[in-house]
Amino acid sequence: MFEYKGHIHIHSRYSDGGGKVKQIAARAAKAGLDFIIVTDHCNLDGLYAGEEGYQSGVLVMIGMEVNQECSHYLALGVKEVVANNDQNPQTVIDEVNRQKGIGIIAHPFEKGSRYYQKGRTYEWKDWGVSDFQGIEIWNYISQFRDACTSILKSIYLIFNPVAGLSRPCHRALNILDRSQAKGHKVFAYGGSDAHGIRIKVGWLPVSISPYNLCFKLINTHILCKREFSGDLHFDKEQVYEALGEGCSWIACDYYRPSDGFRFELRSDTGTWPIGSSVKFTADLKFYVKTPALARVVLLCNGRYQETSQGKIHFFTNLQPGVYRIEAYLKDKFRYRPWIYTNPIWIN
Ligand SMILES: [Zn+2]
Ligand SMILES: [Zn+2]
Repeated sequence: MFEYKGHIHIHSRYSDGGGKVKQIAARAAKAGLDFIIVTDHCNLDGLYAGEEGYQSGVLVMIGMEVNQECSHYLALGVKEVVANNDQNPQTVIDEVNRQKGIGIIAHPFEKGSRYYQKGRTYEWKDWGVSDFQGIEIWNYISQFRDACTSILKSIYLIFNPVAGLSRPCHRALNILDRSQAKGHKVFAYGGSDAHGIRIKVGWLPVSISPYNLCFKLINTHILCKREFSGDLHFDKEQVYEALGEGCSWIACDYYRPSDGFRFELRSDTGTWPIGSSVKFTADLKFYVKTPALARVVLLCNGRYQETSQGKIHFFTNLQPGVYRIEAYLKDKFRYRPWIYTNPIWIN
């Protein structure tokens, strides 16, 4: 399979972002990304302006982020603008499904900060909804805002933006784990929610969620069945197929890129990638490869199962259940949250 690295939650000048799509693509190229999905608020202006295609060698795709006050929903692969409905987000979900897009509940849990937008949050309000494709478990700008707990801390974070990043949202992961344990094909997604907003602290110009940093913080790696061809329509189809099937992992690539990571289910007769559902046989085992020394945790039905340290990891004696991997990067005196995979089901 062919691995590609991208970023799937970005704002441009088509809404409240600071950069033009062309500039954003140039930053993505510099960060080593293969694809980006720009998701401006409540519009597809970038799509209609013909921004999709290769720019600076990066595959640029245009989706959108629906809803304003609360219940933000990422709509990928849609061709018509999806109407807002903050109070009844099920209509938004249904419309994305009608357009055969991929819909993701964005940054569902936020605390907010009185020092940032006067404490505003954009949480998901209605958990009675169904038929969405996934949940954003890791969102940088949301964590950055939550971390602004005092004026001093806010100033510190503006000048040390990486310190605003913690680990993926526990509550969002729990919801996904429970749903996946019931056999639902819902997947984890992540993004920095990069806005590239320029502000001034006194006379000093600074950027909140700068694109160049964000494109290393929370990336999405996909495994495609076919290699990119350079053709927009073909390559776009590969990306949406992998994202739709959950053949992906989310990684903080800042300290060490997760390129080359693998999580596979193997038996004497076959190999299956992330997102697969496989019939139980006694010879099944998981193979995990981390591109650097890591502590790898195998979870079954959302619960801790086993840990392994090193670069190559095998897990055997498996039972039916839904399994996923969390990998923590060895970094001098600590382990940093690094890689969060989508699951593999053993039925
Ligand atoms: Zn949002
Ligand atoms: Zn956003």
